[in-house]
Amino acid sequence: MQSPFNLNRQNQNTESKIVVALERISEAFRVLLWNESKENALSPIQTQILIFLLFHSEEKCKVSYLAHEFNMTKATISDSVRILIKKELVQKLDNPVDTRSYIIGLTTSGKTTAEKAASFAGAFEKPLNALTEEQKEAMLSGLLRLIHDLNKAGIITIQRMCFTCRFYDKNNGQHYCKLLQTKLTNTDLRIDCPEHELKARNRH
Ligand code: SF4
Repeated sequence: MQSPFNLNRQNQNTESKIVVALERISEAFRVLLWNESKENALSPIQTQILIFLLFHSEEKCKVSYLAHEFNMTKATISDSVRILIKKELVQKLDNPVDTRSYIIGLTTSGKTTAEKAASFAGAFEKPLNALTEEQKEAMLSGLLRLIHDLNKAGIITIQRMCFTCRFYDKNNGQHYCKLLQTKLTNTDLRIDCPEHELKARNRH
């Protein structure tokens, strides 16, 4: 059987081992996020929303954007936002460009909770710091390509990475940002860039 979880195949196939390794990593994220959420009496998605609001600009802090970001329905995100409002962690703010929708903003106590929760993946730092620069560069390049391909296949939705940005250019293997007007090394490539603007052919 072709499954990467079939040990006979997996033990003879590098790609299968990577798939299984990524599954383990994703499980670790799930557990760490769950533990952090439990401490704050929140659900994992409520914690993710707080962290997202902490680090992203207002135009992205809307129910519809969050629904795309987390691959959930608007109804599910609205439910989470309602609970966060009840807990006085977020508030509805007027949207100056569209009166039919609102912006979700952190309250002071929401900001404190989000700042603490944002360290939920801290356990990854030490082992990653122990890698050589070459290992980190190879890992980042591989992951960026994988995310880009999964995005093109419609499996990962919203991306704010260089490869899907209208300012990204590549000449003779050299990455370049036309907005920052600078060459980008493999490790300069961004995975979540505040200046990202979607390339026309990536728009759905
Ligand atoms: S604007 Fe940001 S995402 Fe776009 S190419 Fe430049 S660095 Fe990359």
